[in-house]
Amino acid sequence: MSTTHETVQIGRFLSVSELFGPTLQGEGLSQGMPAFFVRLGLCNLDCRWCDTPFTWDWTGKNGYAYSKQIELKRMSVDDVFERIMSSAACTPWLPS
Ligand code: SF4
Repeated sequence: MSTTHETVQIGRFLSVSELFGPTLQGEGLSQGMPAFFVRLGLCNLDCRWCDTPFTWDWTGKNGYAYSKQIELKRMSVDDVFERIMSSAACTPWLPS
């Protein structure tokens, strides 16, 4: 079976653009709370206002064609989880 869109998660793997943290949430109802961000790639919504086209725009629709090979890394869900947990363990102000 073929699909027209790639999927962010295939099996137990993710297309990861960025892992960032620990940090503090800067907006919304959880502002000021400890946070770890997992930015995924391959979004297929093509929003006009997108500020992260480097995670999905390989054709230059937003003015610049990014390289999927450079911008995304295939990581297992377990490896992402490990990065989050090791980050929390090194940061006493975060709950572990
Ligand atoms: S803003 Fe960008 S990443 Fe977010 S849903 Fe729209 S196209 Fe996807």
